[in-house]
Amino acid sequence: MTSPWLLALAGAAVGYLLGRRTSNRRPPSIGAPPETATPHLLPDPALEWLRRASGAFGVWAIETKGPGLGARTYQSLAPSWPATDAEIDLIEQRLGAAAQREGEGAERLDAGLLLSAAAGGAVAGVLLPADASTSLQAAVRADLMALLDGVGRRPVLHDLAQVQEGLAIETVESVGMRLAYQVERIAGAEAYVAAAEPAGVRVIGVSGLADRRALGQLLPAEATLARVASGAERETTSADPLRGPGADRRRHPPAQVAPLLRHEEAIGAVAWRVPNGGAVLPDAIREVSEALRAAALRLEVALRLAAETAKAIKDPLTGLLNRRGLSERMGLVGPERGALISLDFDKFKLLNDTLGHAAGDAALLHLGRILQEQVRGVDAAARVGGEEFLLWLPGTSLEEGVRVAERIRVRLATTPWDWQGRVWPLSASFGVAGWPETTRSRENLAAQADAALYAAKRGGRDRVVAWRTGLNDVSE
Ligand code: GH3
Ligand code: MG
Ligand code: MG
Repeated sequence: MTSPWLLALAGAAVGYLLGRRTSNRRPPSIGAPPETATPHLLPDPALEWLRRASGAFGVWAIETKGPGLGARTYQSLAPSWPATDAEIDLIEQRLGAAAQREGEGAERLDAGLLLSAAAGGAVAGVLLPADASTSLQAAVRADLMALLDGVGRRPVLHDLAQVQEGLAIETVESVGMRLAYQVERIAGAEAYVAAAEPAGVRVIGVSGLADRRALGQLLPAEATLARVASGAERETTSADPLRGPGADRRRHPPAQVAPLLRHEEAIGAVAWRVPNGGAVLPDAIREVSEALRAAALRLEVALRLAAETAKAIKDPLTGLLNRRGLSERMGLVGPERGALISLDFDKFKLLNDTLGHAAGDAALLHLGRILQEQVRGVDAAARVGGEEFLLWLPGTSLEEGVRVAERIRVRLATTPWDWQGRVWPLSASFGVAGWPETTRSRENLAAQADAALYAAKRGGRDRVVAWRTGLNDVSE
């Protein structure tokens, strides 16, 4: 659901922000006094990635509240952007104002289009060229949310950092990206890093030479990188480590695939290959092993932290958000509009009673996967009750919300599902409310979506109903 790029960005942002304490307008000149206090935990320049990826003039993250500290500003400015100090001042001022308002914002300035997102005393902003396309704007908004999320998690990380003295605390994605780039630098190789997570083995880092699209992907269990990361196989080579052994074998030479080991146990793996048949020197191999050893320690800590964070905001069965996670997302995202879909399995009790509770759980997982597939990265899908789900679609109209609900309804009803060979029809009912179409207050959305859902049930189930006044007064 969340795009890998966002995750990587959030991860990198945490590391980056942990590492930098003070504001600097432009990069400090050589010979400037080194920054002290917090050790520099991560060089990953999250802001710079976002800036480059979006073609922005500048990217900012400002914390207006910090433990015992004043506001701190972090920024990455395009070297080609001829900004004056006055312009930068104005932008910081506008972002400061955005931080007070919370939520998302967009402002046209002389310098360009300033997009911002603020929550919990932190604000992230991107200055795009004035003619930035709407799709670019949407992508940047999503990235801003991720960046903000990274900033928001900082205090948690900070506490942990103090407990784990001498250990750098990073997110899983930061460890992955950093290691991938390290391996590339040492060996001149394209590199992929994967971690064994509860949901499966996921690509958490890709180097500059590697295919970025792999980032965030769950690997098929038979992929060599997945097998090595999960301990099913030892160090090996593979022509196509990200896919199955039967996959494309034309690529030469084979990649080295080595595990990330903690206490003899694999918690992840790295695949690396020198392009165009270049040779790897023994020194480089030694240096890569050293990097893997160091990264494994950090990955172990990061995986533990991710599991802790996930527990608080995620539903353990489906991996979707829980109610708390959803309300965080709904509170965080402050676009001008949004749609909320409430859905509930039809006749679920009958399924449970007939096929058993385990079958019911499997059906819930099945629906969870469909929801994840059918929504965008900025959307939030949550399991908020036994067989009740909510979908928050920020920036979406009521009409589009109804379309999304209908798409999911059809998908669920037409995807064959069976329990131990016994085919069972699945369907769900949907209620949709839209802000501002059906309510002026976002707080009313959930009650309206539920009322519409109730009407859908009364109307015969397996259908989508949008909220409207008097909906539950008349029989459907
Ligand atoms: P309706 O179409 O009116 O929604 O009928 P229903 O049977 O789905 O509705 P009801 O709310 O009466 O029943 C929901 C059932 O969902 C009750 C409970 O046994 C089952 N359920 C709730 N949580 C879980 C769960 O985590 N796992 C399983 N397997 N079943 C669950
Ligand atoms: Mg039900
Ligand atoms: Mg129910």
